[in-house]
Amino acid sequence: MAVNSTIPLFRFEIEPDLVAALRTATERVLDSRRFVLGDEVAAFEREFAAFCGVAECVGVANGTDALELALRAVGVEPGDRVATVANAGYYASAAIAAIGAVPAYVDVDERTLSMAVAALDPVLASVRAVVVTHLYGRLADVEAIVAAAGAHGVPVVEDCAHAHGAHRKGRRAGAFGAVGCFSFYPTKNLGALGDAGAVVTGDSAVAARIRSLRQYGWREKYEVVLAGGRNSRLDELQAAVLRAKLPWLERWNAARVAIARRYREAFAGLPLGVPDLGDGDYVAHLFVVRSRHRDALRAHLAAAGVGTDVHYPRPDHLQPALAHVAHSRLPVTEAACGEVLTLPCFPGMRDDEIGRVSEAVRAGAVALATRQGAREGAPRRMRQ
Ligand SMILES: *Cc1c(COP(=O)(O)O)cnc(C)c1O
Repeated sequence: MAVNSTIPLFRFEIEPDLVAALRTATERVLDSRRFVLGDEVAAFEREFAAFCGVAECVGVANGTDALELALRAVGVEPGDRVATVANAGYYASAAIAAIGAVPAYVDVDERTLSMAVAALDPVLASVRAVVVTHLYGRLADVEAIVAAAGAHGVPVVEDCAHAHGAHRKGRRAGAFGAVGCFSFYPTKNLGALGDAGAVVTGDSAVAARIRSLRQYGWREKYEVVLAGGRNSRLDELQAAVLRAKLPWLERWNAARVAIARRYREAFAGLPLGVPDLGDGDYVAHLFVVRSRHRDALRAHLAAAGVGTDVHYPRPDHLQPALAHVAHSRLPVTEAACGEVLTLPCFPGMRDDEIGRVSEAVRAGAVALATRQGAREGAPRRMRQ
């Protein structure tokens, strides 16, 4: 590979041992002649529930469906309000819209960029559920959110699509609220070879409703007992792939966190907002820095052959699809959307690649700060 080839934001690296495990898994499915909701799905559901430390797991077609069916299963109906953040990629908003419910957007904490409990409190009296996203792979302030919501009898749905395996005080993502929702899109910390998702819960009645909703609202074949059901089944092939990959998840999470540690050391003293490493509660799905010169920094990195992305550039309440809906301002969310920048951070990223990204970010941040200082005449303290 050429030394100066572009470093991608994400690259699918596949270890030889894992290739062998995936071959075995897919052959097993072929041999079984069963392709939808069979033994592989049932086994994955048991194994992933055990991994998350909850009683039940229900496999579904993708992470957005997981959110929608979870909200339906905790009782959200058309016209109900659901509290959520506006800086997490519109997935929860899409799920809320699919039900005909209405998002009540809540601003985020300046430091963590996840839901601010103080901003949630005023809307709790008027919402039917809360969706909290563990943004970038860091557990949100979920215990406080569950306590505040619980005081109003409001269930909390965790969006764990960035946070497979993140844990705090012995509890994993998905085990804090009423329901946890996962996506296994290929780039996630645990990814299928296509679309897949799951819902985890300790509540067997909620699990039973999701099992029914993922298959047309059936109780038995052709007997529809729940409204709002449809087809959101998980394939045997994807379940077998996920079973083969699950034993690798913690190793991969550790590899991501090790890259985050290298970046933190390299970026010390720069005028950049840099994520904390945490203590198991950050699985480094995305390594996101903050800069007042985000777009210039991004251009600098592109010129240096470093792939980046912005998660996410436009807050949900300012999306064109919601232009006709009145909304209040979300100052922290809106400011962050203009400053966040995601750097490459994936298992299998090579040492020299981590070094090149680190160097390019350092050089870019220093050059931009110098240029800014020159423009303003006197040296000036950066905001971050
Ligand atoms: C990927 C993602 C989802 C949705 O998952 P899909 O499987 O793509 O539907 C939901 N929430 C967040 C935060 C995500 O990043």
